[in-house]
Amino acid sequence: MSGTGIVRDDLFIDHDPGEWHPESPARLEAIYRMLDNRTWPHLITLDRRMAAKEEITLVHTPAYFGKIAQTQGRSSSYLDPDTRTSPRSFEAALAAAGGLIQLVELVLEGELDNGFALVRPPGHHAETDRAMGFCLFNNIAIAAAWALKSEGLSRVMIVDWDLHHGNGTQYTFYENPRVLYFSTHQYPYYPGSGGLSETGRGRGEGFTINVPLGRGHGDQEYTAILQRIVQPVARAYQPELILVSAGFDIYFQDPLGGMKVTEEGFAAMARILKSLAEELCGGRLVFTLEGGYHIDGQTAGIEKVLEVLQGSGSAGEKLARSEAPEPKIVEAVRRHQAPYWKF
Ligand SMILES: [Zn+2]
Repeated sequence: MSGTGIVRDDLFIDHDPGEWHPESPARLEAIYRMLDNRTWPHLITLDRRMAAKEEITLVHTPAYFGKIAQTQGRSSSYLDPDTRTSPRSFEAALAAAGGLIQLVELVLEGELDNGFALVRPPGHHAETDRAMGFCLFNNIAIAAAWALKSEGLSRVMIVDWDLHHGNGTQYTFYENPRVLYFSTHQYPYYPGSGGLSETGRGRGEGFTINVPLGRGHGDQEYTAILQRIVQPVARAYQPELILVSAGFDIYFQDPLGGMKVTEEGFAAMARILKSLAEELCGGRLVFTLEGGYHIDGQTAGIEKVLEVLQGSGSAGEKLARSEAPEPKIVEAVRRHQAPYWKF
């Protein structure tokens, strides 16, 4: 078996945070329809794999796991003002985290080239003992922690290009040098964290890199930031696995966001990360879906990313190769990261 693995499951569509909620089942319905509307010779859909309690509690407290488990079968429970469950949300959250773990496992074992977990609920806002911002379990943090523990990895790099800062992921590994967390995000904005001076603590000092951005950044700025910060830092860090919190709420028409990224931009970013993974860690690159609230925009972006992952099409090629001028923020990040990284 080789190719691009995907996690896809109708169970994720059963997670319903309520009418009019932007993080709606319609997001994945559109993505799955896109997958069914053409042939994908290199995509492999994985079987359902539920995360075990012991895996969820690599990141979350047992008490928090119990709290989410209790929502099972209940018509609805509010976990925070934005985050509501439906009867099958707990199962969907277990399958999202478990699916991503399985994808990581198969990529690390060389059974798959790379992968994309097309799951909900998303994860990067979920903290150790707290649901937040549409997220129940922190899928990417759980998968990274699992890779450290079960596969014995020493260095995992997480690239989070979602519109929002991944507070849950950052705090999970804030004192841990075995996970390098990199995030671009609109700032100041929800959830409020992600400032330049948040660079890690204790042994984790220097292993958190935040790139807070004002509104209006587009394809050129995002690709330039990956080229000018992520590439050199990754070359110095030498990750054994690259994970991506892929949020499509930086799309230019997203109703929650103020960014200007197009399908070409998403393709170019995926292309840059794919070549970096090929250069540094045998191509081991796994994406997981976070936000994205313009249904057609996120679907088009994901289609392009999947083409890049499976090595077809030429979307984003020119953009990924071009050298855009350095965005202003890079110098500020450089100053804050100077004790730790040269770029
Ligand atoms: Zn987001």
